Amino acid sequence: MKLIGILGSTGSIGNQALDIVRLNKNYQIEYLSCFSQVDEIICQTKEFHPKKICIIDRSKESILVDTFKNENIEILSGFEGLIEISKTNVDFMLNAIVGADGMKPSIIALENNIDLALANKESMVMAGWIIKEIQKKNESKIIPVDSEHSAIFQCLTGESKEDIKRIILTGSGGPFRERQIDTFHDIKLSEALNHPNWDMGSKITIDSATMMNKGLEYIEAYWLFGLPQNKIDIIIHPQSIIHSMVEFIDGSIKAQLSKPDMKGPIQYALSYPERISSEIESFNFIENNVLSFESPDLDKFPCIRLAKDALASGGSHQVVLNVANDLTVAKFLNQEISFNDIPVIIEDCLSCHSFIESPTLDEIDEISDWTKEYLNKKVSNV
Ligand code: NAD
Ligand code: MG
Repeated sequence: MKLIGILGSTGSIGNQALDIVRLNKNYQIEYLSCFSQVDEIICQTKEFHPKKICIIDRSKESILVDTFKNENIEILSGFEGLIEISKTNVDFMLNAIVGADGMKPSIIALENNIDLALANKESMVMAGWIIKEIQKKNESKIIPVDSEHSAIFQCLTGESKEDIKRIILTGSGGPFRERQIDTFHDIKLSEALNHPNWDMGSKITIDSATMMNKGLEYIEAYWLFGLPQNKIDIIIHPQSIIHSMVEFIDGSIKAQLSKPDMKGPIQYALSYPERISSEIESFNFIENNVLSFESPDLDKFPCIRLAKDALASGGSHQVVLNVANDLTVAKFLNQEISFNDIPVIIEDCLSCHSFIESPTLDEIDEISDWTKEYLNKKVSNV
């Protein structure tokens, strides 16, 4: 029996993870968390019987206390509650929170020697250097949930790092791959939310439309696999069948393939180092007989360049990139800014901040606060 904690259990990844748990008797849910979806976490709690639950939105805490007053369930709330729940001793934590707030729970799990199934890519972008240091000091493992990183992780099983020539991150290209750049100013929210291959939460769906998602994944890959930037390539593969590849020094290339379904990488992270059977249907090569590839268009998708440059400049650039992206995406979702504003505002934040080489956690908080303040002022002046 594996004891699991799931943060962000009411989201797209969280719900798919619970679907997998529902079909397998080997998992026991120790804790769940959500931002404010109180009805959903009540249903999940009644079904999975966690020992602890946490809701970030404190105004909803009393509903949980009332609902479970006759049961032995610890109810926590707010960011402090999230930090507290992350210390719970489990076999692994699945971090399926969206955005920068996922970073600290990842760090707390790893510091407490708890293995981490990591969907929250923002953790590695915000604090990859801190996470690597913690991992040097203890045995905690990170099993990536992001499909590209899961693919690379699977391709690297049984291989040694010295034999890697390069890793190749694939990306679908998003909904605007074929759209003319001179019409980007007209992009509507509904168009950006309409991803061709994946059904995901709204923030990552917009990240896929701007292709910042691929930029964040590039940084995530750098920190997860410890390879220099010149050994990480991005290639567009519109069918999303090959989830990523590794090329070795002997010219051999390993790829991991399947129909685009996040249940594959989520289940792999849950069952690692074993594999368990799933309901995912066998891949049909004849029905899916077109696999094509192209280079990413950095003029159309400047967010990829911003992310690559932020990683090359290092430290605080990655924090500003991530926080500014979280905020601009939220403002685009709120229809306060246009699609084309997203990279422009992020670049402005990057060029105006005071650089710190390897920020500590306190400094990351300060840089985040500065970015929020600067960006909000900038947008309200537009
Ligand atoms: P989502 O928006 O569907 O769900 C996010 C979850 O986090 C919800 O349970 C929500 O209540 C909770 N949450 C939101 N804000 C929070 C905050 N400030 N503090 C604490 N909890 C908060 O998101 P998602 O699509 O499931 O994505 C989750 C993470 O997984 C993201 O980092 C995303 O990039 C990554 N990811 C998602 C997919 C996918 O298919 N959805 C694929 C690859 C990677
Ligand atoms: Mg991905």
